[in-house]
Formats: sequence, C-alpha cells, structure tokens
Amino acid sequence: MKTPKQEPLLKELRNYLSHLKDIGYTEIPCGTELFSKSKNLETHSSQPKSDMTAKRSLTAVQKELGDCTRCKLSEGRKNIVFGSGNPNADLVFVGEGPGADEDESGFPFVGRAGKKLTEIIEKGMGLNRENDTYICNIVKCRPPGNRDPEAEEIAACKPFLIQQLRAIKPKVIVALGKPASSTLLGRAVLITKERGTWHEYEGIKLMLTLHPSYLIRFYTLENRRAVHEDMKKVLNELNK
Ligand code: URA
Repeated sequence: MKTPKQEPLLKELRNYLSHLKDIGYTEIPCGTELFSKSKNLETHSSQPKSDMTAKRSLTAVQKELGDCTRCKLSEGRKNIVFGSGNPNADLVFVGEGPGADEDESGFPFVGRAGKKLTEIIEKGMGLNRENDTYICNIVKCRPPGNRDPEAEEIAACKPFLIQQLRAIKPKVIVALGKPASSTLLGRAVLITKERGTWHEYEGIKLMLTLHPSYLIRFYTLENRRAVHEDMKKVLNELNK
C-alpha cells in the first residue's frame, strides 16, 4: 500500500518523537512545560526570558537558513540538523557536526555520541536534556564519512550558530571538543590542554570540554573524571 504524502509539520512531529525515543525517552517530557525551565534551574534564573521572543527568533534563524546550499555539505545531506531542546535554555551545548544518525533524523546528538551526551546531562548533571538544554552544532549538515568540517564549511555555517546563540542567550555555553571550541574562540584550541577552563563568548560564559565521541573512544578514568569536573563547574555557574 502506498504511504500517503506526509504534511511537513506532521513529518517534523514524527521526526521529533522518534528523536525523543532515540535519546531514551519513553514518555513525552513535561507536556506543556516542554519549553519552560525545569525547577532546578528556574530558581536561579535572574532574568526570565520571553518564551515567544526566543522561540520566534530561533524560528527566524531557521527560516533564514532555509534549504541551505551555501556550502558543499548540502550536496550529500538528507536533513539539515538545526538544533533541538529548549529555546530558552540556560545551557547550550555546541558540537561539531551531524553524523549518519543525525542526518537521518534531522536532530543533533542522537547516535552513540548523543547517548553519551544525554547520559552526561541527565545522569551526570541531573538535568533534563530536552527541558534544560539546547543542543546544536557548528555545521548543520553531515560532513561525508564524518570527516572534520572544513574551514569554508564552518565559515558558511557560523553566522547561523552565532544567531542561534544570540537568540537563546544562555548563561553558559559548553563547547564539545576542538572544532567547536576553536570555532567559538576564533583560534586553534588544544582541547586536552584547555578543557575545563572558562572563556567568554559574546559576554556568555564558555566552558571547553572533551567531545563525547572522544570520551567513547578513549574511555579512561582520567577522561571521564575530566568531563565530570568540567560539568560540575558548569552546574556551579548555573546555580550562582
Ligand atoms: N552528533 C552531533 O550532532 N554532533 C556531533 O558533534 C557528533 C554527533
């Protein structure tokens, strides 16, 4: 039997539900509170932001990105992976670029690295991934074979990352790994040396840490402790 053509919104909803399932949810998180802050962060929020402003603004950025063909990564992609989570989050994670699972689903960090990141956020930090964080990447389309994004691809996509961060205005940004750290700081970062250190990005606190894929690849006590320590610093900053 032929499947009826899906309406775009229905397709997005389907992808979103499948994304929630991929990252371990068995129920829809918080219903109407999906876009509000959860308790542990809410109490420390000094300046409540307007849901609509942030949401509309992120939507505007996504609209401007459109069906992007600004760089060659668009040629092989299935889906643009814009970002996901709470548009009003106090905490934003910035990764490198979509992999195969992300390209397939249209959502960031849903593969192995995504499961590790979800574990860090939920088990390690005691936060809720969908409600307490927003997650995006420096490039929104999958680099072929999961190679590192090239300078011109990063340059083509960076304006959208910048606008996303301006729209969300989080209290803390966590850069995951070298490409994200280097992109946000505008210089080559030696991540194993500089992880755990605070920086600033447009007046927002920026923490550099190891990428979850690196953690999976080099699953040593030292690396796990390092990320744990970095996330403790982030929590302290959020709870100030
Ligand atoms: N998935 C992403 O969305 N980003 C990464 O950096 C790695 C996996």
